[in-house]
Amino acid sequence: MKFLVAGVGAMGTRFALKLKQAGNDVTVVDGWDLRLKSLKKDGLRANLDGQEVIEHVPAYGQTELPNNLRFDVVLFLTKSMQLEQMVKDLLPNFDGHTMALCLMNGIGHEQTLEKYLPKEQVFLGNTMWTAQMTRPDHVLLEDDGSCELSNVAPGEPQASQAKQLVEVLDKAGLKCHLLADPRYSVFRKGCVNGTLNTLCTLFECNLEEFSKTSHAHEMVVEVVKEFAAVGAKEGIDLDVDEAVHHVEDCYRVIGAHYPSMYQDLVKNNRRTEVDYINGYVASHGKKYGLKTPYCNLLTQEVHTKEDLQHAK
Ligand code: NAD
Repeated sequence: MKFLVAGVGAMGTRFALKLKQAGNDVTVVDGWDLRLKSLKKDGLRANLDGQEVIEHVPAYGQTELPNNLRFDVVLFLTKSMQLEQMVKDLLPNFDGHTMALCLMNGIGHEQTLEKYLPKEQVFLGNTMWTAQMTRPDHVLLEDDGSCELSNVAPGEPQASQAKQLVEVLDKAGLKCHLLADPRYSVFRKGCVNGTLNTLCTLFECNLEEFSKTSHAHEMVVEVVKEFAAVGAKEGIDLDVDEAVHHVEDCYRVIGAHYPSMYQDLVKNNRRTEVDYINGYVASHGKKYGLKTPYCNLLTQEVHTKEDLQHAK
């Protein structure tokens, strides 16, 4: 399959590498000059499960992709706040058959994609893989993971295309599953990010350390309840107990890992995706007349930390 991976930071590198190693035709596009320079010179370089690997793929700047290039799939793995500009810049490379697949963290990305593309071409999901940029020219890929996706608009040919996407990603070793309802899954993943990413960033600890603190369970439950309340207003019937279990299972599966939001703000002094996670619940809760005190406070606290650090 012919893939364009749009955004080749940590996670884009994992997907581009694995897809290329499995024999797919992979091109990458990125908006960070320093990263692009190394992609063009040295290719995708990573430590993948303890082994140094390199794959050479065509690499373009976000605004320099030739308009005549076409792809079966454009896989979006930017940060949430970079998505809209990336979609706009890549629009000339879409035709009526190109699938737009978003596996990013954050709620509401399908609405951004649907502003520019027919809903039938939009595919949504998320990933439980982890990835970390060690330098602009190198990524660390360890831990086990998986991903899941589905078509957003019901019907054909998009339902068959979603199955085909799952098969291709799974064959590339990305452990991919087909979803019944992609928005349910995005909210469920939002519960992981809205608790572990946000709280580990504020408290500057890893998942294992956070799991041992005395109020961890209580905070996870309250945040998940707020995600469920907002989800219910949007037609998503989130199972609170199952979602809490899903969050807390990360202590076992991912353990002493520092979440990507921690890496952004604490390690790299970059602004975070909190507005698309707890911030989504806070702003939409307000719209629906719901009280979401935990998500309100967590969003404000992360922004306060960003401001105090003059994060970029
Ligand atoms: P990333 O920040 O590594 O990369 C995203 C974009 O930012 C890329 O274009 C990259 O080149 C650029 N970038 C990276 N570091 C930069 C810097 N210091 N200055 C300027 N630009 C920089 O993001 P990611 O971790 O690959 O995440 C992509 C999506 O996947 C996000 O929605 C994220 O929440 C999600 N996700 C990430 C992980 C993870 O473990 N990294 C896990 C699950 C989901």
